[in-house]
Amino acid sequence: MIQENLAQVRQNIVNACKKSGRSPEEVTLIAVSKTKPVEAIYEAMSAEQTVFGENKVQEIMDKYPALPKSVQWHMIGHLQRNKVKYIVDKVKMIHSVDSLRLAKQISTEAVKAGVTMPILLEVNVAEEESKFGYRLEEVENELMEIAKLPGIVVKGFMTIAPFVEDPEENRWVFRKLYQFAVDMKVKTIDNVIIEELSMGMTNDYEVAIEEGATMVRVGTGIFGSR
Ligand SMILES: *Cc1c(COP(=O)(O)O)cnc(C)c1O
Repeated sequence: MIQENLAQVRQNIVNACKKSGRSPEEVTLIAVSKTKPVEAIYEAMSAEQTVFGENKVQEIMDKYPALPKSVQWHMIGHLQRNKVKYIVDKVKMIHSVDSLRLAKQISTEAVKAGVTMPILLEVNVAEEESKFGYRLEEVENELMEIAKLPGIVVKGFMTIAPFVEDPEENRWVFRKLYQFAVDMKVKTIDNVIIEELSMGMTNDYEVAIEEGATMVRVGTGIFGSR
């Protein structure tokens, strides 16, 4: 089932790219394996999936030793500062940076571990009460501060769009973040290389791709309901 789902999601990505004149190579599919067992990840790997997303530090720590080093882990969930040290040597990217204090902690731990951690700033574009992330108008100032920190490189932005029935209702969210990224790109800030937009989940990744997503985070659509 996981293999068939993956094939379908990949086809949908290709179609969304075609529709919007983009190349499928521009889009990375992150298979969100949270709450799913290692066996499910192995099944996805047998269909050539190597990029996985998790939203809890503990789950990354549990799964990391059970899987080959070729797996790329992406931290996509809210991250507490005291847990940064456990994942800084394990993940390829942290998508969910939502405060200067967290960025500083990542910086400290990355320097300690001798790595440069690619990060995305999480933006709560729709300004939902229930969600983490910066409001769009806060991001530029924050970006300037975070850019000064050693051991990290800001690669772009991430958003979690509202839960909606019709994914078209989220098109404006993705478009707004894309436009913002374009505006930031031309500023050429040291330590900032805006090239990734992590947006779109099972319900809305096709619309997100049409609006410029370079990373989509799909869980249910691959692994089934949680
Ligand atoms: C769970 C999760 C996803 C995947 O959600 P689905 O609707 O199952 O595709 C994507 N992004 C984040 C941050 C998540 O926590």
